[in-house]
Amino acid sequence: MNHERSRTLYDRALSVIPGGVNSSVRAIQPYPFFVQRGDGAHVIDADGNRYVDYVMGYGPLLLGHSLPEPVQAAIQSTASDGPMYGAPTEIEVDLAEFVTRNVPSVEMVRFVNSGTEATVSAIRLARGYTGREKIVVISSGYHGAQPSTLVEGDADDPTPSTPGIPESFTQHTLPVPFNDEERLRAVLSEHGDDVAAVITEPILGNTGIVAPTDDYHQTLRELCDGIGALLIFDEVITGFRVGGLQCAQGKLGVMPDITTFGKIVGGGFPVGAIGGRTEIIEQFTPSGDVFQSGTFSGHPVTMAAGLATLEFVAENDVYDHVNALGGQLRSGIRDILADRAPEYTVVGTDSMFKTVFTRADSPVQAGDCTDGCRQDRSCPRFSECPKSGADVRRGETDRWERLFWPAMKDQGVFLTPNQFESQFVSYAHTEADIEDTLEAYKAFFE
Ligand code: PMP
Repeated sequence: MNHERSRTLYDRALSVIPGGVNSSVRAIQPYPFFVQRGDGAHVIDADGNRYVDYVMGYGPLLLGHSLPEPVQAAIQSTASDGPMYGAPTEIEVDLAEFVTRNVPSVEMVRFVNSGTEATVSAIRLARGYTGREKIVVISSGYHGAQPSTLVEGDADDPTPSTPGIPESFTQHTLPVPFNDEERLRAVLSEHGDDVAAVITEPILGNTGIVAPTDDYHQTLRELCDGIGALLIFDEVITGFRVGGLQCAQGKLGVMPDITTFGKIVGGGFPVGAIGGRTEIIEQFTPSGDVFQSGTFSGHPVTMAAGLATLEFVAENDVYDHVNALGGQLRSGIRDILADRAPEYTVVGTDSMFKTVFTRADSPVQAGDCTDGCRQDRSCPRFSECPKSGADVRRGETDRWERLFWPAMKDQGVFLTPNQFESQFVSYAHTEADIEDTLEAYKAFFE
């Protein structure tokens, strides 16, 4: 593959954009390819190379790159009326009604411009509503680029995970490992009266893909109720992807107090949202006292794209398609690994998938996990799956970046560039794309 033009563009970018990219994860070594355009489930780079795309914008593109006609028409007619107004428009109400009609725990919703903005606002809301200051977070969970959650270590010794966050801020954040009920109980019994909220992704999507074991979230729900803390589900990735229009909370049957959204709900345009019960969400200004505001919030083009996307999804076989292809991909990769690299693990559910380069205790047996695995302890394959971010980090994470990603890219398969971020199947992917992708996996592992 020729990458001359991407290399030249990267060289120019390095002089004017830090690291040459506008989001850190795009900084692939030795240089990223620059995208010219999308086409269905594919992207074409600046040198004309074509890739089957499983990054899908890191999750927003449930319908792929070529949007169905009604979605394109909604976007174009809204944009041609003028970009935005600073006054409310009907389409914000329409999208809010769609979300509240479909997501079980959400009665009211405030739109913002990114997943980060949604989690920042959700945490401020939880603190304002409860009058408490501490937040319990899951180690290796991700809630965007914000000081309350960019914290690592243990609840007994939290430290900033990046320069730029004062050590003193981290006193208010208590990290606990995912799927560790015992540690959670201990931390909540020590800090209970000070805890405003526990925030978690329902399924970890930024550190491999890690599913909750057994009734983990149900226990979380009960523990939060026991101490009067709010439960926040960060559904920025899982929202309108896992569990269909009801999101992961519908699939898990656990109702959070607050849900954060991003990605799909904006149909590929910048978006975030904070939803929940009316009595909580109404605490945002101007109906309540917890300050929340934004010039671009509820942007008409984003609202139009999000609503048209979700209406198309509601009226077509989108989830059947993406979940079926997701299942084919996971079981196909599992079969390939069973013979060639049985120590690796295929994880994911619905249209999310990832291969984790773990050296698990017991080798993977050929065959299928129950799709939509809940990591039930009675499952014969239970011990193979990562249970926490730490399990994923113990894998051969370098192997992904140095060998696997470049080799797959050279075969025309665009995966997320490191071991941690999830990958996604879209409505535009076809069985032929899945077959080509499995051939590429086979070639690599041979
Ligand atoms: N929460 C989760 C679960 C995410 O995966 C992300 C981003 N991938 C965010 C929050 C932050 O969203 P954004 O990048 O739109 O700010």
